[in-house]
Order: sequence, then C-alpha cells, then structure tokens
Amino acid sequence: MPDVRIGLGYDVHAFAEGRALVLGGITITHERGLAGHSDADVLVHALMDAILGAMREGDIGLHFPDTDPAYAGISSIELLRRVAGLMAERGWRLLDADTVLVLQRPRISAHREMMRQAMAEALGVNTDRVGVKATTTEGLGLTGREEGVAASAVVLLERV
Ligand code: MG
Repeated sequence: MPDVRIGLGYDVHAFAEGRALVLGGITITHERGLAGHSDADVLVHALMDAILGAMREGDIGLHFPDTDPAYAGISSIELLRRVAGLMAERGWRLLDADTVLVLQRPRISAHREMMRQAMAEALGVNTDRVGVKATTTEGLGLTGREEGVAASAVVLLERV
C-alpha cells in the first residue's frame, strides 16, 4: 500500500480597518484587510495546517508562534515555503491540495488563478496540484455578516 497521508486545515481571521487583504498570497483591493500577527493570509494558514497535519507535525501555532516577534507582519507565503522545506526534509511530497475560502465579499474569481500559482510556486509543485474555490454563506454567520473570512484546506502527501 502506498504511504499516503491526508491533512485537514481550517482557519478564521477577523476583518480589521487599515490592513491589506492578502488571500492565497495575493493582495486584493478591498476596504478592509484581516487582523493577525502575520499578514493574516487565512487561506495559506489553512493550507499550512493541512500539510503539518498530514505530517503529524503539530500546527502553525507550534512552528510559527504568534508570540514571536520574528513573525510579526511576515508574509504567509514565505511561511508556506518553510513548510514546503520541512516537508522535503521529513521525506514527504505533496500529491494534491484543495482549498475553500468562505467569505461574503470581495469576489474571488478574478484572483483565483494567481492564488493557485502563488501557493503552488511556494510549494514547488505544478499549479494543477493546488485548487482554490470560494463560497459565500448566503449572508449567514460570521462570514456572512462580513466579520471575517474562513478557509479550509485538504492535502494528500506521499512518502518519497
Ligand atoms: Mg491564522
């Protein structure tokens, strides 16, 4: 049987004034961004947690603690690159990744391909191995009220 592992990641960040909105490594024009210690890229955070989960290596809070000033304002895509490095170090290869952004606004479709490219590039895989989808919650809940953005990700890793 091939040694493959599945990983699941989930994250939520609140909207905040005076912040850039960074999703999937892409800065998107919007009246607000997301609050967080890093650039608060909720989609990349979910993806990193999925990868760390599949490796049974804890979570991003363990690897990049938000109490550490070294990670203040850091690009999450840069952290994803480090997670990719850890994956290689531990002898894992990313077979596939799929993600979902949950938000009412802004619309994501125009940015989807760039997000896929940015995350795939950081992971060192072809763009077709990284999926990005988006959904609203029909105005319901914290994302529907535009209090924040949620994201989830699943990945499949194979032992090299
Ligand atoms: Mg986060």
